[in-house]
Amino acid sequence: MRDIPTTALPDGTSIPIFGLGTWKMGERNADIAGEVATLRAGLDQGVTLFDTAEMYGSGGAEQVLGEAIAGRRDATFLVSKVLPSNAGRVRAIAACEASLKRLGTDRLDLYLLHWRGSVPLTETVRAFEDLVRAGKILRWGVSNFDPSDLAELDAISRNCAANQVLYNLTRRGIEFDLLPQAQRRAMPVMAYSPIEQGALLNDATLADIADGHGATPAQIALAWVMRRPGVIAIPKTGRAERVSENLGALDIELTEADLAKLDRAFPPPRRKQTLEMI
Ligand code: NAP
Repeated sequence: MRDIPTTALPDGTSIPIFGLGTWKMGERNADIAGEVATLRAGLDQGVTLFDTAEMYGSGGAEQVLGEAIAGRRDATFLVSKVLPSNAGRVRAIAACEASLKRLGTDRLDLYLLHWRGSVPLTETVRAFEDLVRAGKILRWGVSNFDPSDLAELDAISRNCAANQVLYNLTRRGIEFDLLPQAQRRAMPVMAYSPIEQGALLNDATLADIADGHGATPAQIALAWVMRRPGVIAIPKTGRAERVSENLGALDIELTEADLAKLDRAFPPPRRKQTLEMI
């Protein structure tokens, strides 16, 4: 059981800088037992942060996660997301209640708007604030919001707790503006697809740096994402042995030489880029 380092949410609550994603879970009956076992393996090793969404497996991922944490809810920090099409004043309440039911809990630690849709932000914020008052969510945030979306949100409410965005070695655009903006306001960024859904792992530079640390490319890619204060990585795996491997990223300290090598292979942004999404 390891102690996972934490960062602070704007309300002062600690949140681990490493969690487990659940996209693609709960889609096939034959995989469910293995997925539950993988998430439990994470819990057994000290993982408390879990990321899911009503969209994943059309609720199936929330069910898998609910089964995995049954009896251990108080040891977890649960993040789920509402679809933009459900983000209206009334529908968001019903969507949240359905997520709670599938997860087998009475509250979410963090509820995110999955991405920005056509529902006015004012409506979504009112629904989120109603859910906070009812105790069904402890706080709320957003996902896939670029700096101008966040500025628009700021004019409505300053209560946004986190922004979950695509961030990994091949997707560094947020370093130009979004990341400094989040850091200025002490709002964590949750990095999704931190190993580019596995596509990063055959890279020669990563392999070389991994060799130097007696580590794996996945561990280097994850250590790189978590190197900055306020950035949380939420890799997904359906295999228990990879949970241990990915957790091993927390033991790696990248050197200045490693970081320079990675900058040459994956150059940082020199100008503003459109926020990418998967
Ligand atoms: P990811 O975590 O970058 O990669 C997951 C893929 O990598 C899976 O195919 C997994 O396969 C493989 N993998 C994991 N660890 C590995 C290892 N050590 N060695 C080799 N392969 C490994 O991609 P992601 O699932 O897209 O992103 C992570 C989480 O972020 C999601 O699950 C979801 O919770 C969240 N997310 C949010 C948004 C959003 O819009 N807010 C979008 C995308 C994702 P196996 O399962 O076979 O191990």
